[in-house]
Amino acid sequence: MEKRVYIETYGCQMNEHDSERILRLLEGSHYLETKNAKEADFILINTCSVREKPEHKVYSALGRFKRFKDEKGTIIGVAGCVAQQEGDKLLDRVPYLDMVIGTHAIPMLPQLLQRIEVSGEKVCETSFSQNGKYLEAVLPERPLNKVKSYVTIMQGCDRFCSFCIVPYVRGRELSRPSGEIIKEVKHLAEMDVKEVCLLGQNVNAYGKGMEGELDFPQLLDRINDIEGLQRIRFTTSHPGDLSEELIQAFSKLKKLCEHFHLPFQSGSNKILRAMHRGYTKESYLEKIGRLKKICPPIAITADVMVGFPGEEEKDFEETLDLLQKVQFDDLFSFKYSPRKGTRASQFMDKVEEKVKQERLSILQEIQKGITLQKNQELESCVEEVLVEGLSKQSDRDVTGRTRSNKVVNFEGDISLVGKLVPVQITKAYAHSLRGGIVPNYCGLRIAE
Ligand code: SAM
Ligand code: SF4
Repeated sequence: MEKRVYIETYGCQMNEHDSERILRLLEGSHYLETKNAKEADFILINTCSVREKPEHKVYSALGRFKRFKDEKGTIIGVAGCVAQQEGDKLLDRVPYLDMVIGTHAIPMLPQLLQRIEVSGEKVCETSFSQNGKYLEAVLPERPLNKVKSYVTIMQGCDRFCSFCIVPYVRGRELSRPSGEIIKEVKHLAEMDVKEVCLLGQNVNAYGKGMEGELDFPQLLDRINDIEGLQRIRFTTSHPGDLSEELIQAFSKLKKLCEHFHLPFQSGSNKILRAMHRGYTKESYLEKIGRLKKICPPIAITADVMVGFPGEEEKDFEETLDLLQKVQFDDLFSFKYSPRKGTRASQFMDKVEEKVKQERLSILQEIQKGITLQKNQELESCVEEVLVEGLSKQSDRDVTGRTRSNKVVNFEGDISLVGKLVPVQITKAYAHSLRGGIVPNYCGLRIAE
């Protein structure tokens, strides 16, 4: 008998992709996705613990779903980073919870679910796997009806930045064999996927410690040769592992999109040291300079944090100075939030919440102006857009992205979905661009 699963996902692309893998795995156990929690036989919350806010969401979601347990005995589970971190403490804290499943245990989910169905017992599986099986792809069997797809290439992190929970909840760095990755991308391309985004907590470190394995630029090179695939992206990168070979790849590989997401976290060398980031403001700027020289149209985005312990006004000024120097296309900015078990959570010189908020608002206001200006630079240019679907605002419009990852809306119909089209930008906004198709335009470097 067919059953229904509802998944609520918080956090990064890795979590989004894990939820997709879980859905594919559960299809084999006759669980089909529902977007309505009320209909579900199984509700899974895929969680994030990188910051305090997404972590708190878990408990409010569990509160919301309790009534389904009371009314119809829905099985309720928690997956992802909070599950990994809290383990069976979660089961003690939330009596109506049935399942806690850590970041390495995804392949075991169907069996664990079956155990709950049969015996009604509660399950908690958070051990770290040593063999990499948890990274194996679940290849889609049916057409995905999707223009782009994520592909995990590595997981975990060995860098131990002092603020970050990732090494504790995702484990040590582990890369998938390149042969498996290439097979997966080929399979996706055969299913008409046009763009892949290669995922990992630090993709630049791909292949490290694996004898005879490709490194990240070599992997990109091999993926670039896959027939039918049009675009390659990747996220996320650590500046310390950004090699000259990777920078050069942006001038060599036709399918590699001109966008680099390179988190810097702070512009102050004192704070970067305390964060244990392993680079300086100057070396970061030097790498950005190289990227812009090798590939002038490249869009640069990053993550930044304000209010790290010990951050004084002059440190914050250094961060603002970095913003002005780089002119990021966009920024993901956060207030530092202490994470239990990380070194920085023990640091004494905490920054007041009010000061963090003020700094965040100042930084975001400045960045808003820079982003708009960067978008305005594209007005009247013709950009290659991969059409992803109908626009949510108007059914006469379609929406897609430029190679530099900017959202463009323009008039068109469903027949354009999955196509690369030349679009002239007519108007720039803070978060998107407006444009119009240019018929018979042949000046784009569209991949064969
Ligand atoms: N691996 C990437 C790197 O090296 O920068 C970052 C991945 S991390 C999961 C995503 C982003 O969350 C970070 O870039 C950082 O800005 C933010 N973040 C991580 N820990 C945080 C914390 N304790 N408080 C606030 N923001 C945090
Ligand atoms: Fe976290 Fe990124 Fe540092 Fe790894 S490199 S510890 S994922 S911030």
